[in-house]
Amino acid sequence: MLHLLRELRVLGELRRRRDAEGQLRGSERELLKSYERNRDLSTRLLQAQETERARIAGELHRPNAKLTLKLEEPGGRISSLPLNVDAREAGGQLHHAGQVEVISSLPYYQQYFTDAQRGSGVFGKSIEAMRRLNAVGYGVEGSGLLLNLVYNPVGPYLPPAQAALEADYKRELKARFGVLFNGLFTITNMPINRFRLHLQKTGQLEPYMDKLLAAFNPAAAETVMCRSLISVGHDGRIYDCDFNQMLDMQAGELSIFDFDFERTLKRRIRFGEHCLGCTAGAGSSCGGATT
Ligand code: SF4
Repeated sequence: MLHLLRELRVLGELRRRRDAEGQLRGSERELLKSYERNRDLSTRLLQAQETERARIAGELHRPNAKLTLKLEEPGGRISSLPLNVDAREAGGQLHHAGQVEVISSLPYYQQYFTDAQRGSGVFGKSIEAMRRLNAVGYGVEGSGLLLNLVYNPVGPYLPPAQAALEADYKRELKARFGVLFNGLFTITNMPINRFRLHLQKTGQLEPYMDKLLAAFNPAAAETVMCRSLISVGHDGRIYDCDFNQMLDMQAGELSIFDFDFERTLKRRIRFGEHCLGCTAGAGSSCGGATT
């Protein structure tokens, strides 16, 4: 009897996984339908390519900075987006970088939890970096210089509601340390690479995948970031997103050096099991929740 129940459960899960994959494929079809909108974005990328290529190539190789590309206002400017910035460099260098948006990971607004996750002293360095950035205007309302923070859960859990957590971060960081920032992005831990290995070793991979699947949100599948952003590797190869880049899943044979927007628009996004991390709960992207 127990055996039968277990088989029924597995069959049920397989069916739900198939349904979820079907919805992801539906989302891919929607991508082709939004051809005009994507065409506009890609035109901006194409126009900016020549003038920005040299600068982007240089910045892609700058140590301690991981760069992605972000399409901006009409006119086609591309700006670089540092995600990890050495605290010692943060204040001075970015001040001269112009319209660069700073996005920095801060696991929690309390020292104990941040240092436990990232190592002793990390919290203090992060606060110091925020102070320097605030001093030159980053995170200060009205300055136009954006400083956003990133939260991702410790372990195999979904992040809490983004707006409520952002309010907690803002209140506590200002009261305790006098530092400011613009927004908080909650990001789901993707079941890839080191995190996946850790889950495997501790027997948590299957429960975590079940959790992501159970939290599948069709609305989040509609807004996955690979529908409007691409990721570019240090060698110019194009990926659907950071995660596919980490998994070495190149988008076809696409490269920024022989950029062809027709091919880029019509590319088939390379979905995989890890995509369930983007579609669970409120959704997840490099810009936080998507719904
Ligand atoms: S992991 Fe990448 S390809 Fe998959 S849904 Fe998320 S953004 Fe898209």
